[in-house]
Amino acid sequence: MEAEESERNGHESDFALMVAGKGSIFCGKFFFTFAHHLSCFMESYPVISFDNTEFAFEYKSGKQLKKARFLFNLMGMPWLVRLGTRFAPWSIRSGLPVKGIIRNTIFNQFVGGETLEETAPVAKTLGEYHVKVILDYGVEGGDEGEQGFDHAAEEFIRVIKYAATQPNIPFMSIKVTGIARFGLLEKLDQMMHKNEGTLMKRYISSLEQLPAHEKEEWHKVRYRMMQICEMASRHKIGVLVDAEETWIQDPVDALTIMMMDTFNKVTCVVYNTIQHYRHDRLNFLIDSCKAAEQRNFILGAKLVRGAYMEKERRRAAEKNYPSPIQPDKESSDRDYNAGVEFCIQHLDRVALIVASHNEYSNLLATQLLQKKGLPLDHPHIHWSQLYGMSDNITFNLAHAGCSVSKYLPFGPIKDVIPYLMRRAQENTSVKGQTGRELALIKKELQRRGSQ
Ligand SMILES: Cc1cc2nc3c(=O)[nH]c(=O)nc-3n(C[C@H](O)[C@H](O)[C@H](O)COP(=O)(O)OP(=O)(O)OC[C@H]3O[C@@H](n4cnc5c(N)ncnc54)[C@H](O)[C@@H]3O)c2cc1C
Repeated sequence: MEAEESERNGHESDFALMVAGKGSIFCGKFFFTFAHHLSCFMESYPVISFDNTEFAFEYKSGKQLKKARFLFNLMGMPWLVRLGTRFAPWSIRSGLPVKGIIRNTIFNQFVGGETLEETAPVAKTLGEYHVKVILDYGVEGGDEGEQGFDHAAEEFIRVIKYAATQPNIPFMSIKVTGIARFGLLEKLDQMMHKNEGTLMKRYISSLEQLPAHEKEEWHKVRYRMMQICEMASRHKIGVLVDAEETWIQDPVDALTIMMMDTFNKVTCVVYNTIQHYRHDRLNFLIDSCKAAEQRNFILGAKLVRGAYMEKERRRAAEKNYPSPIQPDKESSDRDYNAGVEFCIQHLDRVALIVASHNEYSNLLATQLLQKKGLPLDHPHIHWSQLYGMSDNITFNLAHAGCSVSKYLPFGPIKDVIPYLMRRAQENTSVKGQTGRELALIKKELQRRGSQ
């Protein structure tokens, strides 16, 4: 009720001046400073090592490590991953008996369980090593239809209430496609692109142009989002709003910024995700921070590089529009690291989550904090890696005293298949990632004298 009241009285119009969507407020000097200082101070502070495999895999038995070695070996074969990523979704849909194989391999490596309750032993084990958990109910564009969206919102709220009872689950994540029709998000996004002005202005104009039944449909989406954020605020659990495809992202950003303006006045409850493989996102981050200053809220910023690169490029080529993705990996890296530096320079206004498996970016954040004389467990910085990947980063950061977590998805196998397929593709396509994981696992097995 409270959520509905406050949502109905919503103050979208107050946002007219917020977040320069199409305009750019880019500061060239920022890059110069960044590039100039980076190499100097990376060398002058005690460096956290990500090579310690004893800390990295302390929580895994020899048997578990060998299983992980087997899986990463398989994922190192691109032809097998290509075949698997086509075959697995189809075989699940056709009812073939493949769930057992999936559960015992890729599912156990990357997913916490099929139900919320099944994640408990994993969270407990991680907690023993000072690693926290971000619970991720793995529904993605799940059951379409109002009932399905209401159900997803209820599930998100159940996750929040559960997290509040646990010692090491400070965050949960949501996907707006879990509570909104993809087609409606896409339509709003298209309308927003046609309208002029700041992100919020374009959002408001687009809402006004929607037909009555879709206005009502969007009203329900906002109401679900309000309920989730309000419950999170009450229970002191952070809500991380995942970023998805660019062609639905504008309304997701607008909605998330509105939630931040409502719930992030004193502490940071709501976080937006910023994908630095997009060439426009460093500016967006800077604009979001300005909006937070103007409106006096804390900007929650989870920085990622981005998980949909091939899909984005393919669509841009098919539909003949300029790709929103950076021209090369170096540009994504440059903007990501500049984003980390920008957030750390503004930690009084920004609560940062470094969500990455890139060793350099993770280390950079620790070095920048040290350079500023700030503690590694500063309340406005957190690091996170996906469950099943980069344990060397997570556990060594935890060992050094950083606030760090594993992103732990859960859900029925059929629902987490898209997530699993992304992990398989990522581990086969990311240059060196599988090799790095494998080398670390082998090193640890060798250290334990086990082959
Ligand atoms: C905790 C957590 C939460 C996440 N949440 C989200 C989310 O909400 N939304 C989302 O989209 N992703 C999310 N991701 C995934 C993330 O976006 C990356 O796909 C993944 O982490 C790999 O990037 P990296 O920073 O670990 O670094 P690296 O392994 O160094 O970089 C790989 C990434 O660089 C980029 N890249 C690679 N090649 C090129 C190229 N040729 N040109 C331009 N860019 C290139 C791609 O983004 C690729 O994924 C999340 C990751 C983590 C750890």
